[in-house]
Amino acid sequence: MSWQNVRGHESLVETIRHVIESGRLPHAFLFVGPEGVGKHTFARKLAQAMLCERRGEAELDPCGICPGCVQVSAETHPDLLLVHRPEDKHELPIQTIRELCRTLSLKPARGSHRFAIVADADDLNEESSNAFLKTLEEPPPGSVLILIGTEPEAFLDTIVSRCRVLRFERLSDDDVAAILLDRNLAESAAEAERMARLSNGSVRRAIALADPVLAEFRRGMFEEIASPGGFDAPGLARRVDTFCREAGKEGVLHRERACVLIGELVGLFRGVLWQTAGLAPPSPDPDDRDAARSLAETCEPEDVFLLAERCVDAEAQIKRMTNLTLVFESLAHDLDHILSKNIS
Ligand SMILES: [Zn+2]
Repeated sequence: MSWQNVRGHESLVETIRHVIESGRLPHAFLFVGPEGVGKHTFARKLAQAMLCERRGEAELDPCGICPGCVQVSAETHPDLLLVHRPEDKHELPIQTIRELCRTLSLKPARGSHRFAIVADADDLNEESSNAFLKTLEEPPPGSVLILIGTEPEAFLDTIVSRCRVLRFERLSDDDVAAILLDRNLAESAAEAERMARLSNGSVRRAIALADPVLAEFRRGMFEEIASPGGFDAPGLARRVDTFCREAGKEGVLHRERACVLIGELVGLFRGVLWQTAGLAPPSPDPDDRDAARSLAETCEPEDVFLLAERCVDAEAQIKRMTNLTLVFESLAHDLDHILSKNIS
């Protein structure tokens, strides 16, 4: 069991190696970077290394087989706290953070460290952020807090200044393909490569797009929006809404699918921008390129920024639990409005 399966972040692994060798593990980390590039895997690997009961003091690799390692993998280790935003909330509740800080202040149950990994840390509100400050200012002995988010700007300066910030970059296509194969998410090397080329450096996106139903819907949505005569906004909003609700029973699945589709639209508009700048769109998919080319013929670059910006707003609304039907109706209306002003 080694850090080898933490792919694409070799320089960060080196940073951790130095930290462990020096014997001075920071009490708080802030991991930032795009979604789906391995921040959680990295955090858990660090926790496993520190909670491994057989690892030599200055070694980096957890053994993978001792009770400590096994319990970290199974998420049952008494010194590993995992916290994320509840699915029906748009913020990390203050109660959850207070409870976490209290537990973190207790003596480790088994070894010398107690770890807390906080996912969705972008969703800390000011009150919850402030609840961390005492723990950050006077860290309990042996405690290690890892906050995982996307942008350092999303955090209060008082948090950032007390954390060791590690920045995670997008993965290369080769790393995405290797991760898909490692986890048996692709049936062949060729399929893994194809998925990786569409992933924009995110394993999560590669997995989402591997769903043929989603890929087909995405294709239809792109064609419709790029159609030279404009598109039927209320009809498209209805179809997207229905499709998202078909993702499963729970609202969280509807919102996840909605965010994937909106993320894809942002990718499409990015391609249009490249096209208007006279460059080939970054997507290797010929159909994506056709859609981008067609939109570029009717759009000025400033329109493309508006389109992308409108999608980013819609994604934020979805994360704030706004009703999906309303989000799609208003998004489709606005996209149509921006696009149709250029259709003569
Ligand atoms: Zn171990």
